[in-house]
Amino acid sequence: MPEATVDPRRRVPRTDAVLTDPRLVDAVARLGRTPVRAAVAAAQQRARAGELAPEQVPDAAVAALPPTPGGLRPVLNATGVVLHTNLGRADLSEAARAAVAAAAGHTDVELDLASGRRARRGRSALAALAAAVPDAQDVHVVNNGAAALVLAATALAAGREIVLSRGELVEIGDGFRLPELLVSTGARLREVGTTNRTTRADYANAVGPDTGFILKVHPSNFVVRGFTGAVEVAGLTGLGVPVVADIGSGLLAPQPLLPDEPDAASTLRAGADLVIASGDKLLGGPQAGLLLGERAVVERLRRHPLARALRVYKLTLAALQATVTGPETPTWRALRADPGALRTRTERARAPLAAAGIDVTVVESVAVVGGGGAPEAELPSWALSLPHEYAAPLRQGATPVVGRIERGRLLLDLRCVPPDADPALVAAVRAVAGR
Ligand SMILES: *Cc1c(COP(=O)(O)O)cnc(C)c1O
Repeated sequence: MPEATVDPRRRVPRTDAVLTDPRLVDAVARLGRTPVRAAVAAAQQRARAGELAPEQVPDAAVAALPPTPGGLRPVLNATGVVLHTNLGRADLSEAARAAVAAAAGHTDVELDLASGRRARRGRSALAALAAAVPDAQDVHVVNNGAAALVLAATALAAGREIVLSRGELVEIGDGFRLPELLVSTGARLREVGTTNRTTRADYANAVGPDTGFILKVHPSNFVVRGFTGAVEVAGLTGLGVPVVADIGSGLLAPQPLLPDEPDAASTLRAGADLVIASGDKLLGGPQAGLLLGERAVVERLRRHPLARALRVYKLTLAALQATVTGPETPTWRALRADPGALRTRTERARAPLAAAGIDVTVVESVAVVGGGGAPEAELPSWALSLPHEYAAPLRQGATPVVGRIERGRLLLDLRCVPPDADPALVAAVRAVAGR
């Protein structure tokens, strides 16, 4: 402890002296000077306030270093929500991570190495996507699903009408309302039918010379039950205008595990001219807006000036290709995880915590798909149940763990936690408990 008679401010070590600590020299090489100096300044401030002894300043600075240079902190998703938008939706596969790292430097993203000439940007990723959905004559990729909708509405319907069922005027989340987005492009919405029922005749009566396209939106985050009726894509063809289907979640082909989720291949086979989907939902890849469909329609989108403003970064292209061609993604591993195996993992995680005297039990849990997809699908799961007071410190630990509060307890559902991270999760709980 500082001696009461000496003003501790006098004895706080100078920045240059603290920065000679080898751990901080190493941190400057890894993170840059700015964050390291900030950590040192914070430690010096604590020493001046009498919270630390002067000789503790280097240790405190090391402890205050940011864990990653990028600012975004990796967290363990123990929420039981597979595609959690606040946690960045899909967890990229090892293959996609490797692809991102490999593409980080200079790449041939727009250059044909054989001829030395400029080439179509991202042609390799686009070819991989097209190969994965043979029903699509052509494909294009933009920043996200919302950007894909904006591009389609602008290129195919600006100053004209988009015919859309009143039952599909949806809000995706966080105030993102699809009708407002569409109107912002200069297209007019021609709403047809009612909230619960829309027929083919409703569409047919609305279609005219001013129609840009019929839009079919998958109401991905809610269901309407009772006296309902909607027209599927197959029932909207033959009206003389393009049919655009926003399927939302981004399955490329049908998945027996989620039979109610639409997929790109089936939607194209049903007659859609253009399918719009997200890359970071059920595809399990990077944030991206996928556009798949008729050659002439996709070509119009690609050639529109707005396409340049919505184009994707090389890292996205690399991650997308690796996701489409690579092994099973963490998203699908989490969706398919066997409840019995999850229970075993959860019991195994509980044992050392209980032995350390922590108030922890193993409880049944229900995990969900999330990301505004498959709202009805319930995935039986298992969770550690802890006092709710653990929630905040666990979120702010060295390895942040995000769970969910249910009936006054903190549940840590292991379904979306990579199995090799179980020891880190256990260590994080022990650190909070101090045991
Ligand atoms: C998620 C979703 C979108 C938006 O996609 P982003 O990739 O999040 O921009 C649009 N439409 C539907 C039906 C969706 O589910």
